Amino acid sequence: MSNLILEIKNLCHSYSEHALSIENINLEIGSRDRVSILGPSGCGKSTLLRLIAGLEKPDQGEIKINDIKVSDNKNLIPPEKRNIGLVVQEKALFPHLSVFENICFGIKKNKDKDLIASELLNLLKIDSLKNKYPHEISGGEQQRVALARSLAPKPNFLMLDEPFSALDEDLKETLYKDISQVFSDMSSAILLVTHDRNEAEIMTNKQIRMEEGKFI
Ligand code: ADP
Ligand code: MG
Repeated sequence: MSNLILEIKNLCHSYSEHALSIENINLEIGSRDRVSILGPSGCGKSTLLRLIAGLEKPDQGEIKINDIKVSDNKNLIPPEKRNIGLVVQEKALFPHLSVFENICFGIKKNKDKDLIASELLNLLKIDSLKNKYPHEISGGEQQRVALARSLAPKPNFLMLDEPFSALDEDLKETLYKDISQVFSDMSSAILLVTHDRNEAEIMTNKQIRMEEGKFI
């Protein structure tokens, strides 16, 4: 048993015959690594995360998560069986659920759910928002809640797709600080994709540059 969380070999994917969206990607992420993929819009960052999450099927290559092959060009283990958390830029909270209920969404059957949710509310400094609904809180607060919800099932691997790009610059700096702290306290491996170098440098210890579907 290796301590690699993610192992990608020779991954290729295209949406159409004429253009490869992902070209021969190789990547290894260890159990406590924090890695970012830094590249311009359209270079294939979200596609790569979708492949890892199991929302797209590769044309070639394979993906292993926790030593189990989850994707190749024949087989695809469904996203919900991959034990991965994914945080995206778009507002992804359930509008009809309170902050607390959103955080508990993935752990409804866990008898410790109240405890887990209050720890996360505390860590992400959103205690006072517990009973509010998404439309009653700011964008930055919504991203904190989305992150808490992804962390609640304690995934050993968390992926973040430009989670802060819709937020104000000054808000980002405090969020980076708080969230980096949360990451250090938890033992999840992190894969962040972003076009923002500053964000990549603050949030992760290794940065990989991506252009036109390839790692540079
Ligand atoms: P990024 O996240 O780095 O901005 P994407 O992975 O979203 O890039 O897109 C990579 C390329 O694939 C782009 O050229 C984009 O237009 C194309 N693409 C993304 N999603 C689809 C799709 N569902 N169908 C066809 N082409 C797509
Ligand atoms: Mg994207």
